[in-house]
Amino acid sequence: MNYVIIGNSAAAVGAIEAIREVDTESSLIVISAEPESAYSRALISYELAGWLPQGANLELRSSSFYKEKNVQPMLGRRAIGLDTTTKVVVLDDGEAVPYDRLLLATGGSPQKTGVPGEEKLGVFGFRTYGDLIAIHQAVKNARQAVVLGGGCIGLQAASGLHHHKVETTIAIASDHPLSQIADAECGDFFQALFEKNGIAVKTGLQPVEFTGADSVEGVRFYDGTSVPAQIVITGKGVAPNVELAQGTLIRVDRGILVNDHMATDEAGIYAAGDVAVTWDRVACQSTINAVWPGAYQQGRVAGFNMIGVQRRYDGSMRLNAAEFFGVPFISMGIVKPKGEGYETHSRMLKEKGLYWKLVFQGNLLVGAVLMGKVEGAGVLSNLMRKRVDVSTIKDDLIAGRSDFARVLPLVKVQSEAFGETEYRELIQ
Ligand SMILES: Cc1cc2nc3c(=O)[nH]c(=O)nc-3n(C[C@H](O)[C@H](O)[C@H](O)COP(=O)(O)OP(=O)(O)OC[C@H]3O[C@@H](n4cnc5c(N)ncnc54)[C@H](O)[C@@H]3O)c2cc1C
Repeated sequence: MNYVIIGNSAAAVGAIEAIREVDTESSLIVISAEPESAYSRALISYELAGWLPQGANLELRSSSFYKEKNVQPMLGRRAIGLDTTTKVVVLDDGEAVPYDRLLLATGGSPQKTGVPGEEKLGVFGFRTYGDLIAIHQAVKNARQAVVLGGGCIGLQAASGLHHHKVETTIAIASDHPLSQIADAECGDFFQALFEKNGIAVKTGLQPVEFTGADSVEGVRFYDGTSVPAQIVITGKGVAPNVELAQGTLIRVDRGILVNDHMATDEAGIYAAGDVAVTWDRVACQSTINAVWPGAYQQGRVAGFNMIGVQRRYDGSMRLNAAEFFGVPFISMGIVKPKGEGYETHSRMLKEKGLYWKLVFQGNLLVGAVLMGKVEGAGVLSNLMRKRVDVSTIKDDLIAGRSDFARVLPLVKVQSEAFGETEYRELIQ
């Protein structure tokens, strides 16, 4: 049996580990466009912000990982075609790699802005180790930077540039930072925090041009204003890398559609991670929830099913976690509910830098935002994920009492498989 994985990140590592738990002998090839061994994308922002010790390793696994797992890595090689009739993956140098079972773990890439001048030197995404190295190089000579986008990635990129003493402006199309995952109250707090720390935040602004000759010299906006910049980072969302599915039976609806075995509609082909559309068990809809633990878990499920061990993926949940200038922030589930049937409770203690918001749908907790104090996030995420009936502790939750001692027995009673570990990595 030939197992082939396209991608070499969270989902791929999950699949490799699952496959090798059962089958240590069959051929297992990992193809990745990036030349590096598997590394943590989340640590890119930590590294740029100077939070890691100098020379820190971003690798996900030890340098002997591929050898130990009997994997043939084909790194720095891009897959450009997929022939599902002859069952081969075609690489950019024309080499054809045959497969019996294939996993598409191709993740996502920064969304193109469509703004003229995007190809200029000095315009970066904030996604890969390659981006990190290029930005490190660029900050040596840059005085000013513009970050487009006020989501977690944009704010992290801005914090990183600021750490390198580059005068940074965040330009946001909406009227406050974190607008997709937090209310204005919370977003405004972060805006003031960034401004207090010397990072300009401009809201309601759409770029129309990246100016300059070969290298970017600034960003011009719809309102006629311009901001000089020798670095521009585009942090306006991620587009799933679905190109290989084109011309096959694999269904794509923004991302690749899979069943709960992570199998696509094409026999023998699976998908996992940021490229895959999964069932959001809190929002009760199919979507892409692009988080590391979810990608790893989906990869494991795909890996087991690829070798014939039946496993089901029990669904994803939206989760964003970050820390800005020492203030932690977590947003989970449905935090800006639309339509009837939701009950929301929120509280801001500005002077203490504390904010929380809970969203209920009947007796279910379906959303939470925590800022400043996030210790209760593990408990809340489990209540959401396990769809625990919280009627007996709702008042406690609303009063901000979500300690383990009160909640754990309830979760244990109501849930067959209480698993606290899944989001720990994010929350700690
Ligand atoms: C700056 C940053 C901070 C983040 N912080 C967090 C966090 O705090 N917590 C969290 O849970 N998540 C975080 N994430 C998201 C997390 O990193 C992703 O959810 C996770 O990496 C997804 O893993 P994946 O395996 O699906 O795909 P990716 O990590 O996107 O990897 C895709 C792989 O596919 C390869 N590839 C793609 N196309 C091809 C092709 N045609 N041929 C060959 N190879 C190809 C790429 O080279 C790469 O190896 C962060 C992401 C970024 C960028």
